[in-house]
Amino acid sequence: MNIIVAGGAGFLGSHLSEKLVEEGNDVTVVDDLSSGLEGNLSNIRRRIHFIKSDIVDFDSDDKFDVIFNLASNASRIEWEKRPVEVALSNSSGNNNLIKLALKNRALYVYASSSEVYGNPDVIPTSESYLGRVSTTGSRSPYDEGKRFGEALVKSYEREYGLRNIIIRLFNTYGPRMRGGDFYGRVIDRFIQQAITGRPITVYGDGMQTRSFTYVKDTVDAIDLVVKSGSVNQVYNIGNDREMRILDIAELIKKMSNSTSEIEFMKLPEDDPRRRSADISRIRKLGFSHRFPIELGIQYTLDYAIENSNGTV
Ligand code: UDP
Repeated sequence: MNIIVAGGAGFLGSHLSEKLVEEGNDVTVVDDLSSGLEGNLSNIRRRIHFIKSDIVDFDSDDKFDVIFNLASNASRIEWEKRPVEVALSNSSGNNNLIKLALKNRALYVYASSSEVYGNPDVIPTSESYLGRVSTTGSRSPYDEGKRFGEALVKSYEREYGLRNIIIRLFNTYGPRMRGGDFYGRVIDRFIQQAITGRPITVYGDGMQTRSFTYVKDTVDAIDLVVKSGSVNQVYNIGNDREMRILDIAELIKKMSNSTSEIEFMKLPEDDPRRRSADISRIRKLGFSHRFPIELGIQYTLDYAIENSNGTV
């Protein structure tokens, strides 16, 4: 198949592109490299088409069967630095790619997020949960951006017959997650801190939870819903193994034999208290995780140590 992966030079996008290439697809990666890195594509660079472009103005006359839209800034640090860009990327950029999908009669796979549930009071959270989200808080450009993004996809489905799948991605981690202070996602930050002996910064009391999925499991689940799922359906892609952030800090400290202290810091605004995915829908399609968290963290740790020359 002829496939576009928008955001394909990013952490998740590059792993997905690799899988699609391995399966024999013709893959075009569209990425403006605002947070992605061309180096993430080094394993497949000669086997893909790479176009450096913002999704807001990307167009093509080639014929595509599937368009994945993974182009979005996924970290709190970025939402705080560039909230307008983050809010708009799920509206104007999304709109542009949807039109390209319609022109091609392609399947449009929109990468949404567990953030559409906000700070949920039902755990694990299923796709039917409507969300408890602040429209005005500092997370809102991303959370409400994704909610609007989904609404736009469904509007195009109703009015123009857009064939789509919405995937709601829960916390994903693994090699190439952009590290330390640039991107600020928790597992990568803790690993960077642990291997450099700096304090491991736990926000709040560390009793807040997340459920983490190793990137290869996330990519397998995405591949599965596209191949075996229903068109115009929504799928949680994640894990129902809920873990406390403090336990993650202690696990990483132990696994890396680190001398780092654990330092408690102020909890950011609107930080969800608990998060766990109800994954019955993808389980029905036959999905199961291959990478327990200890194994996934080991691989991520190995990668971080190998690349600890400032490239991650
Ligand atoms: N977190 C933390 N220390 C850090 C970075 C994050 O304790 O240095 C916490 C954060 O407050 C949140 C959880 O880890 O409760 C996951 O944060 P992340 O930014 O990775 O993802 P998200 O909040 O979007 O789920």
